[in-house]
Amino acid sequence: MTGHPTIRLVRGDITEQDVDAVVNAANSSLLGGGGVDGAIHRRGGPEILEECRGLRASHYGKGLPTGQAVATTAGRLPARWVVHTVGPVHSRSEDRSGQLASCYRESLRVADELGARTVAFPAISTGIYGWPMDDGARIATETVRNTTTTSVEEVFFVLFDEPAYEAFAAHTG
Ligand code: ADP
Repeated sequence: MTGHPTIRLVRGDITEQDVDAVVNAANSSLLGGGGVDGAIHRRGGPEILEECRGLRASHYGKGLPTGQAVATTAGRLPARWVVHTVGPVHSRSEDRSGQLASCYRESLRVADELGARTVAFPAISTGIYGWPMDDGARIATETVRNTTTTSVEEVFFVLFDEPAYEAFAAHTG
């Protein structure tokens, strides 16, 4: 069965989600960073970083391009897979919303290919990369709603604080 995933909002920590795949707001090096990325590698353990190093060596010598997604296993996390995607840094002079939408679309495509039925996303680019939360929530929810040909059944947006939760709630009704 393919169709629309059901969208659910969760207030919490992405590393604790008991889903098939969690999405990492990675940076293009794939070698770890702050925010979600740091938390995933800390909680998931060194296996994830080892796989990321392998992917860098085999496929992404120059790093994972913005808007693309790639999967590893999830180490000690409850999830089975981590889908790493690189959000755009927010810019006031250039519209990069297509790249942000691509992160959600590509991550869902990769999760679908893996056979994931449940996927958890953080609010990509809204931390260190500076994207305004309301606009990030709009792009995230619209892109998932526009995904009509996936076997992913549930998409959880995992929001770290109340303002992020409220922003997503305003776009999901
Ligand atoms: P980016 O570099 O793409 O901006 P960040 O990891 O800095 O990514 O932040 C993305 C969003 O995730 C921010 O809204 C941040 O508050 C939130 N966040 C940070 N840590 C966690 C976590 N452990 N679980 C869920 N969301 C988190």
